[in-house]
Amino acid sequence: MNTSIATLLEHKGGAVKTVPVSFSVSEAVKEMNRHKIGCVLVMDGERLAGIFTERDVLTRVVAAELDPKTTPVTRVMTGNVLTASPDATVQQMMDIFAEKRCRHMPVTKDGRVIGMISIGDVSRWVSIENRAEAESLRQYISGGLSG
Ligand code: AMP
Repeated sequence: MNTSIATLLEHKGGAVKTVPVSFSVSEAVKEMNRHKIGCVLVMDGERLAGIFTERDVLTRVVAAELDPKTTPVTRVMTGNVLTASPDATVQQMMDIFAEKRCRHMPVTKDGRVIGMISIGDVSRWVSIENRAEAESLRQYISGGLSG
């Protein structure tokens, strides 16, 4: 839980899927489906302009009966993007996901996006850590009993 986000990114890699601000919702969704991901960052050149997730497709496009082909992604994205530092911990990330009720966090360093962490990445990591800790306790107990 004290593992840094930088360590998670070392394992996962820093690839981030982005779309330009000129894209329609339809084009952004095609990109998400092509990569089998639930979220894209919307970029205005080098600047992070927003984040667009599958939740936005449901609540801001489908429920609002907007036409995905003619709706610019900028109209339905979240413009005020929360980002994390690579020095943040897995525990801090879990707290933010729970508090802010979102599942994606771009990681930035010196104002540049260097990766993306999802709630799935964090829970996978916690599960691996828990299994490793349980195994080491099992070994400690069985070693202690036989010794
Ligand atoms: P999610 O649960 O990640 O699909 O997103 C739920 C809502 O939060 C959607 O409206 C997203 O656009 C928004 N959202 C997701 N991640 C972030 C983030 N890092 N910063 C700001 N808003 C976000």
